[in-house]
Amino acid sequence: MTQSVDDIKPSFPLFRGECYQVSLDKKRVFEERHSDEKLRETFLWTTTPEYKELNFKREALTINPARTCQPLGALLCSLGFDKTLPYVHGSQGCAAYFRTYLNRHFKEPVAQVSDSMTEDAAVFGGQKNLFDGLANAKALYKPGMIAMSTTCMSEVIGDDLNAFINNAKQEGYMEQDFPVPFAHTPSFVGSHVNGWDNMFEGIIRYFTLNTMEGKAPGQNGKLNVVPGFETYLGNYRVIRRMLNEMGVEHTMLCDPTEVLDTPADGTFRMYAGGTTRDEVKDAPNAINTLLIQPMQLEKTRKYVEATWQHEVPKLNIPMGLEWTDEWLMKVSELTGTPIPESLTKERGRLVDMMTDSHAWLHGKRFSLYGDPDFVMGMVKFLMELGAEPLHVLASNGGKKWNKAMVKLLATSPYGANAQVYAGHDLWHLRSLVFEQKPDFLIGNSYGKYIQRDTLCKGKEFEVPLIRIGFPIFDRHHLHRMTTLGYEGAMYLLTTLVNAVLDRIDEETRLMGVTDYNHDLIR
Ligand code: SF4
Repeated sequence: MTQSVDDIKPSFPLFRGECYQVSLDKKRVFEERHSDEKLRETFLWTTTPEYKELNFKREALTINPARTCQPLGALLCSLGFDKTLPYVHGSQGCAAYFRTYLNRHFKEPVAQVSDSMTEDAAVFGGQKNLFDGLANAKALYKPGMIAMSTTCMSEVIGDDLNAFINNAKQEGYMEQDFPVPFAHTPSFVGSHVNGWDNMFEGIIRYFTLNTMEGKAPGQNGKLNVVPGFETYLGNYRVIRRMLNEMGVEHTMLCDPTEVLDTPADGTFRMYAGGTTRDEVKDAPNAINTLLIQPMQLEKTRKYVEATWQHEVPKLNIPMGLEWTDEWLMKVSELTGTPIPESLTKERGRLVDMMTDSHAWLHGKRFSLYGDPDFVMGMVKFLMELGAEPLHVLASNGGKKWNKAMVKLLATSPYGANAQVYAGHDLWHLRSLVFEQKPDFLIGNSYGKYIQRDTLCKGKEFEVPLIRIGFPIFDRHHLHRMTTLGYEGAMYLLTTLVNAVLDRIDEETRLMGVTDYNHDLIR
């Protein structure tokens, strides 16, 4: 063994040790591994236009999609409400997957229970699991509300949550007045962003559908803010800060910033912060409701417009300069509150930063992927910076997103060379960047495999990854950052320009060869 208690090594360089290498060689023989030459030949073939053509003919196979399934979005949504226990009616393995996915991104414990449906439930239905699960979950974890979603399994067999929850209450497994909002979140359609939308609509429907009497827009003088599937904790905070600086009273409808950012002070908090049920009940009385990520909140929009009678403004995600301007001006228009000097000054600082960095970003080509609204906002900001989007991909983007993106790209000469890919995955993107190399990739941690593969072909093919999006597993604390508002634009700009400068340093540090551009001051 090359591992020793006096000299603990991480997996690298541990597995480079002799005994591990011998073991690996034996495994390769046992598995009849192809020769290095054959592997190289096949690898290089996967980087060719011929392979790309085949790759784009794929129909029944998805490889490395930049999205996950609906119940994960429902989980994140549920975490944003006061004393709420997320509950998934379905398989235990799915719940474990959702929890670990969020654990790895937020580096925080994430609570969720499941009623562990197995083979018998698949045959006879999951009502019995749900009865016991509700009673046990309430007794053990003492929530103030249980928010229920489903997995593939319960959806395939067609379990009816409304009927099952009502039956559970009638049969005494749960008090009649205990709140159990729910959403059907079938994973074979949509993605995590739709799961968030479904769960959110389920919660506001539960608390407001039958209690609209006496409620009317404008009665409480507040604005509602609906974040959508948002994983940058700083974004909840910056929206609040901007509204507070304007003196606008508001309700953040879903706020998981406390429970996903609890202090290490010796006390475990299963529940912390979150939007209260009273705030949800009062939400129809707001002046209006602003949807921060409008492309992914269609169901919420329909409900809010039809039931709360709010005329939801058609805004874009407040990313970058112009769309933050538009957002603040709309808030000002709706509330009659002027935009304060503090925000005007902040805007001016952002413009100053953009001017300072413009020379380094102008004409740089970025391929990017992620959720529909995020990618829209990022493309808009890149073009404001004079950078050029090249490949623009959203695995969970549909026809509507595609059309809106094409329209957005047409508004700037920097968008002229961009290609839009809705419903494609990162294996498609891999082929695209081999065919036409961008300067950088922007996206979640899964893009690191594209960076590695492009480097494997040769240094000149390498496409470095800039980690912005969800999930980010392999870097720490980026989820605490801010990507919205002027503050978020400053973070994005800082990240982008320094990635460019890091790369230039990397390419010019060969002493006596390329260091004529290895500048101290840039
Ligand atoms: S896709 Fe279906 S089976 Fe897979 S984790 Fe999601 S809900 Fe579970």
